[in-house]
Amino acid sequence: MPVLDETLISVFEEVVRRNPGEAEFHQAVREVLESLGPVVAKHPEYADEAIIRRLCEPERQIIFRVPWTDDAGQVQLNRGFRVEFNSALGPYKGGLRFHPSVYLGIVKFLGFEQIFKNALTGMPIGGAKGGSDFDPKGRSNGEVMRFCQSFMTELYRHLGEYTDVPAGDIGVGGREIGYLFGQYKRITNRYESGVLTGKGLSWGGSQVRTEATGYGTVFFVDEMLRATAESFDGKRVVVSGSGNVAIYAIEKVHQRGGRVVACSDSDGYAVDPEGIDLDLLKEIKNGRRGRMSDYVAQRPGSRYVADGSIWEVPCDIALPCATQNELNGADARSLVRSGCRIVAEGANMPTTPEAIRVLRDAEVSFAPGKAANAGGVATSALEMQQNASRDSWTFEHTEARLADIMRSIHERCLTTADAYGSPGDYVVGANVAGFIRVADAMLALGHV
Ligand code: NDP
Repeated sequence: MPVLDETLISVFEEVVRRNPGEAEFHQAVREVLESLGPVVAKHPEYADEAIIRRLCEPERQIIFRVPWTDDAGQVQLNRGFRVEFNSALGPYKGGLRFHPSVYLGIVKFLGFEQIFKNALTGMPIGGAKGGSDFDPKGRSNGEVMRFCQSFMTELYRHLGEYTDVPAGDIGVGGREIGYLFGQYKRITNRYESGVLTGKGLSWGGSQVRTEATGYGTVFFVDEMLRATAESFDGKRVVVSGSGNVAIYAIEKVHQRGGRVVACSDSDGYAVDPEGIDLDLLKEIKNGRRGRMSDYVAQRPGSRYVADGSIWEVPCDIALPCATQNELNGADARSLVRSGCRIVAEGANMPTTPEAIRVLRDAEVSFAPGKAANAGGVATSALEMQQNASRDSWTFEHTEARLADIMRSIHERCLTTADAYGSPGDYVVGANVAGFIRVADAMLALGHV
């Protein structure tokens, strides 16, 4: 395990003590702290002003009851969360996740990551995350709508275009954002477009927001390839997941000349040596909310694996785009064995610390989510810009802006990694560049 700088050990111990049982949050904090040794050595003012200790404590944490009625007339109960982590750079910004695994530790890990990711984009947005242990899977549209309305009936009082602006994440796509926005508008009697991002195109959404996280991840990998005079052309790519991020990562890989040979859902994965048929995948996942097993049933030449790891499929580039800790040490060893040269995180923290170590030791280029998947939130910030000026940009213009942003994040990571003695290390580059931007803003704003 990489060692923590001596001055940061007590900070980490304090985080563990103050947030018991929140393993994912501890993991996310530790991963950032491991990069900060050379930064605190160079900038003692950060320690003097308790910047890192303050960064690890959310500014506000909201936990609330979400009662709703199912189609059978039964009252159901869920728990809602919003962790407003840091607003030094702008209004709180970060998605909502609806998944049965959601608890405070998951929301905090995601919110903490979001601070640095948002800082890395160079845009004026703070960090937050929220969600609920509600499981939309198998629920009717009516049930999802009633849940969203109940969730927003509490959450609305904490939101606002200058205060806190949620978006989607796992289990929260265009349908859920629509129901949430509808309820916000109804309660407040305000058409405040800038209060949520990921909206539909006819009611304040931005072109490219749906595609942004997946596209942005591929733009980032394109920059990594370019740095070694390579391209996607002819590369075999494995993408985990088959949700929003995965689908548009697959689309952009194919546009760039690569071939995605496997993707997955939480039940299993499909191997398709000819390349995933994206039209079929979209029709099954977006149209019918179906499963990867349905894909294989309709796609000759593909096969389905119910048990096992998608990372056993040989590839040149791996893009984990499903969920946290989905790529472990054994998976990383499989990837190394099959000759994989690049791993870039479309999801948040999908790679375990052990897996990152294995990849680094084998000199596999590794891009952490806070850099590689920042295209989603960056495009959300572009959506906020369009809402503020009551403008709407074309697809081409917005995609070009996204590509520029990903290019500059890549550049920022490499320059910073170089300046802090770890050339080519995207983890150090992303953590340090994101941290310094937030830390300097916090210094400027005083003890708040
Ligand atoms: P979606 O809900 O659209 O898709 C999630 C996908 O991951 C589904 O295919 C799902 O399968 C699969 N999945 C979820 N949990 C597991 C699990 N435990 N094991 C295996 N597969 C699983 O979510 P998104 O695509 O929006 O998000 C994916 C990741 O990307 C998350 O980590 C999210 O935080 C991150 N992210 C998303 C952004 C966005 O703009 N949407 C922005 C930045 C990061 P199943 O249907 O079976 O559950």
